Parts: sequence; C-alpha cells; structure tokens
Amino acid sequence: MAKGLLTVVSGPSGSGKGTVLGRVFEKSEGFVYSISATTRAPRPGEVDGVQYHFKTKEEFESLISEDKVVEYTTYAGNYYGTLRPVVEKDLCEGKNVILEIEVDGAMQIKKKFPDAVLVLIVPPDYATLEARLRGRGTNTEEDILRRLERSREELKLFNNYDYLIINEDNRLDEAADKFIGIIESEKLSTVHNPDFYNKFYNN
Ligand code: 5GP
Repeated sequence: MAKGLLTVVSGPSGSGKGTVLGRVFEKSEGFVYSISATTRAPRPGEVDGVQYHFKTKEEFESLISEDKVVEYTTYAGNYYGTLRPVVEKDLCEGKNVILEIEVDGAMQIKKKFPDAVLVLIVPPDYATLEARLRGRGTNTEEDILRRLERSREELKLFNNYDYLIINEDNRLDEAADKFIGIIESEKLSTVHNPDFYNKFYNN
C-alpha cells in the first residue's frame, strides 16, 4: 500500500489555522488529525483524547525518554509533542496525517521526514492579526503582546515552509479549498509516487 502523506500545518496564534483545518475536515474525509500530547491544562470544553492527550510533566518526560514522541517543544511553559505511533502507523496504513504544530516542531519533522509537506497559514497582515487576537476578548493585554511578539519570531522561518495560505477574514472556504488543493497536487507529485516505475513494469 502507498504510504500516506505527512502534512505539517503551522501559523501564529490568531492565524485561524484551527478553524481552517476544521473546515477542511468537514469538506474532505481523506485526512487523519494527529492528536498531540501536552502538559498544559485542558481549556473549558476540551476532552482528554479529543483535542489533546493531557499528561503530567512526569508522564510527558517518560514519553520522551522512551522515544515515544517524534518531535516535541516547550511553548508557554508547557510540553507539546507528537506521538510516534500516530505518525508511523497511520502513514504506513496509507492515511494522510496532519500535524498542527508550532514552528520548532515543524523544523524537527522536516529533518526526520524530508517528504513531509509544510504549510503555513497566516492572516493577511499584521493589523488583522492584532485585531483577531484582541477580538477574542479572552486574552490579557500581556498575553496579546506576547503572542504578537512570538508571531514575529515564528514568521521569520516562513521560507522553510513549502506553501503559504493567506487566511482572509470571512473567506474560510477559500482557505480550506486552497489547503485541499495543495494536498491533492502533492499526492500527484513524482516525489510522492516513488514506486510508479517499478509498479508499472511489475519489477
Ligand atoms: P494551544 O495551547 O493553543 O492548543 O497550542 C499552542 C501551540 O502549540 C500551537 O501553535 C499548536 O499548534 C502547538 N502544538 C500543538 N501540538 C503540538 C505538538 O505536538 N508539537 C508541537 N511542536 N507543537 C504543538
């Protein structure tokens, strides 16, 4: 069976990447979302094993020492990591796996899985990013400033990504369709069909 495509999606807080991916999953059944492990506390409404596998610091450190995470980072004082079985088993079963992770983790994945496709979702401009973060109404001023500052650091790495999707206000479908289009094209690329020749000639 052909291996699935591994896609990494990153974007600064306020890019709307989670909302875009939500729409992608509504429109297409061809993807598996990798549920990460984290030590941050669940937010209201979050359920263990749905948004994240919630772990204690000790549990997470055991996962690291047992080599059960393929990449991990610390973000705002908490660990976040991608669990190895999700990536390895699902990809081998031909599933297209999506990792929604920040840039540090994305760079680790790029090293370990050079065939992975890296997509960056961004707001149209800085003013929109700021307006979205303020519009949430749930973040403190300090938190907003920290997220804006972090976005500057994250976006410095933009040219390590393969694709850039600009997520305009009120054009969610357009962003989701672009994402689906990228994945469909990538699946047709020669890079992602390495065994074409051998299969064709039954070698
Ligand atoms: P949040 O706390 O808002 O859910 O996530 C904070 C950041 O951590 C987001 O940028 C999110 O994409 C990133 N993140 C979530 N899971 C992982 C993971 O498994 N690995 C890495 N490197 N980042 C993650």
